[in-house]
Amino acid sequence: MARIVVLGAGIGGVPMAYEMKELVKNNHTVTVISDSPTFHFVPSNPWVPPKWRKPEDLKIELAPIMQKKGIEFIQKSAVKVDPPNNQIHLNDGTAVDYDYLVIATGPRLAFDEVPGLGPEGYTTSVCHVDHAAVAAQDWDKFMEDPGPIIVGAVQGASCFGPAYEYLMILETELRKRKIRDKVPMTFVTSEPYIGHLGLGGVGDTKSMLESVLRERTIKWVTNAKVDRIEQGMMYVTEVDDAGNEKKKHELPFKHSMMLPAFTGVDAVRNCGVEGLMNPRGFVIVDEYQRNPTFKNIYSVGVCVAIPPVEKTPVATGTPKTGYMIESMVTATAHNIRDELAGKEPSDKPSLSALCLADLGDTGVAFLAVPQIPPRNTTWSKKGKWVHLSKIIFEKYFMRKVRKGISEPFYERMMLKFMGIVRLK
Ligand SMILES: Cc1cc2nc3c(=O)[nH]c(=O)nc-3n(C[C@H](O)[C@H](O)[C@H](O)COP(=O)(O)OP(=O)(O)OC[C@H]3O[C@@H](n4cnc5c(N)ncnc54)[C@H](O)[C@@H]3O)c2cc1C
Repeated sequence: MARIVVLGAGIGGVPMAYEMKELVKNNHTVTVISDSPTFHFVPSNPWVPPKWRKPEDLKIELAPIMQKKGIEFIQKSAVKVDPPNNQIHLNDGTAVDYDYLVIATGPRLAFDEVPGLGPEGYTTSVCHVDHAAVAAQDWDKFMEDPGPIIVGAVQGASCFGPAYEYLMILETELRKRKIRDKVPMTFVTSEPYIGHLGLGGVGDTKSMLESVLRERTIKWVTNAKVDRIEQGMMYVTEVDDAGNEKKKHELPFKHSMMLPAFTGVDAVRNCGVEGLMNPRGFVIVDEYQRNPTFKNIYSVGVCVAIPPVEKTPVATGTPKTGYMIESMVTATAHNIRDELAGKEPSDKPSLSALCLADLGDTGVAFLAVPQIPPRNTTWSKKGKWVHLSKIIFEKYFMRKVRKGISEPFYERMMLKFMGIVRLK
């Protein structure tokens, strides 16, 4: 009997455990290690600060569900992955042995790379539900004394969609409260142009998102490198296409949310061996999601190493989004099952992106198949129906986690979604 351990219980880790358990039943054991007792639906975090969601709405207690599914759940933090010994060291000094390991830890949020960035500095974050709860307090203070807002993503960021979402959600909320006229808004991004999204754009995202920003009188700075942030002031260098300094900006703010760059988590970066990770601590995988050096280690989600789509004047990374992550999960589950049956892995993830960016009272949907160009399909569209679809996606994904449904989620929703798209 083999022991399959999944490290991390987020958008990648929980479905990974469910799909794996469904395939191996009781012939092998599945264990999940998580530093949090709850699953968090990260994509809805931007709704927390303006109180469109409460933090508790986005959390699901995992232990009872895992127990019901026959999955061992260890609620402890991993401090070190130890591939030569097939072990994971935990924060209480114990170690967990594995035959197969799936690393699904998501990112470390590299706020430390820009002075003054993040919840311990002067900007807020929506990357974690607890950060979003703190941002909600900042938002309450802001409401008592409104002023300029800056939202965006710093150099090295790979996740841009949530920055656009948060900007537009706040803009919608300000209009609802009839105080939009008191709040100058600026979008500051390392992307070379609006709508690049770390993907070289998808379909018409450039003109679509530029047009939304113009309609809503939001200024922007692209090719932006944030030098430092102080109380109420952001210092930004804008570069030209060759990466040379074009303009210095000193931008005042009363509320700001800037997405950081990501790295791999410390438990991976501390592994002390060559071949598991790239210099930023992301797990190296082959076309089967398997580490080429330690062949009993697989990885899914944001912690996987994927090169940037293209070189940009200010560094940007490639986003890893839900549909793409699900395809990594399914391929990994199939490949571990096959290895257990004495076969070589053969399942490759589709790595396609279907993204719904909520813009408060409307939204932009885009589809990139595969996510990394050149692509067979690129498509994008704007409409109120995207905002509504996002709410439906949230409900369905939370239901999947709560009920322990192992069936891939995006693949099924995608079919329904494509039906809607054809009707539009
Ligand atoms: C604000 C935001 C909004 C997003 N919105 C969308 C969206 O709308 N659509 C979309 O497709 N994608 C979206 N994404 C991108 C992506 O889908 C999410 O980042 C998703 O949460 C990534 O899943 P993951 O499993 O890789 O990481 P996570 O969901 O972050 O899960 C990682 C888990 O590992 C645990 N962990 C970490 N380190 C350890 C350790 N040492 N020991 C034990 N456990 C550990 C963490 O606590 C966490 O539970 C969004 C990302 C962000 C940040």
